[in-house]
Amino acid sequence: MARVNENYLKLRGSYLFSTISKKVEEYRKAHPEEAGEIIRLGIGDVTEPLTPTVIKALHGAVDEMGNKDTFRGYAPDLGYDFLRKAVSDEYSERGCSIEPGEIFVSDGAKSDTGNIQEIFAADSVVAICDPVYPVYADTNVMAGRAGTYDEETGRWDGIIYMPCVRENGFVPELPEKTPDIIYLCSPNNPTGTALNRKELKVWVDYALEHESVILFDAAYEAYITEEDIPHSIYEIEGAKKCAIEFRSFSKNAGFTGVRLGFTVVPGELVISGTALNSLWARRHGTKYNGAPYIQQRAGEAVFSPEGRKETKALVDHYLGNARIIYDGLKEAGYEVYGGVNSPYIWLRTPGSMTSWEFFEKLLNEYRIVGTPGSGFGPSGEHYFRLTAFGTRENALKAVERLKKG
Ligand SMILES: *Cc1c(COP(=O)(O)O)cnc(C)c1O
Repeated sequence: MARVNENYLKLRGSYLFSTISKKVEEYRKAHPEEAGEIIRLGIGDVTEPLTPTVIKALHGAVDEMGNKDTFRGYAPDLGYDFLRKAVSDEYSERGCSIEPGEIFVSDGAKSDTGNIQEIFAADSVVAICDPVYPVYADTNVMAGRAGTYDEETGRWDGIIYMPCVRENGFVPELPEKTPDIIYLCSPNNPTGTALNRKELKVWVDYALEHESVILFDAAYEAYITEEDIPHSIYEIEGAKKCAIEFRSFSKNAGFTGVRLGFTVVPGELVISGTALNSLWARRHGTKYNGAPYIQQRAGEAVFSPEGRKETKALVDHYLGNARIIYDGLKEAGYEVYGGVNSPYIWLRTPGSMTSWEFFEKLLNEYRIVGTPGSGFGPSGEHYFRLTAFGTRENALKAVERLKKG
């Protein structure tokens, strides 16, 4: 008799975004005359189109696929050399020496941050930040590493939680119990905070000392504006011996619908005699048939001089929205974080209002939709996330309303 993987039955329903949609829908029904007025600052997806250089590369690759002489079938499992080389060159510019053979091209950082846990022991102890991108916890629940869920605390008893709250500047503190695997995300979704060099070095040193592995999600690396924030964990000495890094073309070049990312597993990262690079290569080659040629050519174009200029303009556009929202909220008297090295603005709800109470207030009084912080973990309670991924017009309009209120 077939039996299901019971770990899947333990998963908590992610009602966050469906609950938000339901509440917005109810509001629209109750106030049809205002339906068009609703401003959505809850979205975690880009809205600007792909840039001309990327479009040109996509068209060119499509044409190649239609020609007998230039047609390509299966891509190499680990990625085309031209893209791995382009990524490697970008790392060199940052002073990090990452070989093409240490780069694994994929369909995005969600898959890779979700799948990477497969190469670690089933009884590994995992540490995550709270609040957090839900993929890290859920994939470890699926793998049976999370233990039992406690309704009272909103936590899994097998996972180490590192609260990131205003009291610690949203910087995770070293845990009491030693984890085997540590998930870090900087610049962070949802708090919008980024780790500086000193803060990140604390983690690299800790991982080296305890022989833990850091899984470093750098999906928002392109949003870094401050000097002292590392774009890559490999800017920290020793990181190649203890860290895997995830990157994506989604939030910088607008590839959320195109699908392309890459993961760096340095050759020096060896656990009890086993190189994680070979394990991940084996896993990738067995379960993945390579990112499409067309997408990889588009990814290569992102690294061209023109592509970089265009990507920077995209990021600057969203950062401009972030600035407007951040400043507007401050002027309106809110306690605001993030927004400087990140497209996310993280605010403290006023008084003792819960995240969901603030959601209702924002929707009903200002017709603005955001995301309750408690949806990202128990320590996100009394916080709220707004994103800069909308239009400039809506950012300005939202701020105007908030200031009036
Ligand atoms: C958006 C996002 C990703 C990237 O996902 P893709 O699969 O590359 O689109 C990864 N990590 C975090 C924290 C994100 O917010």
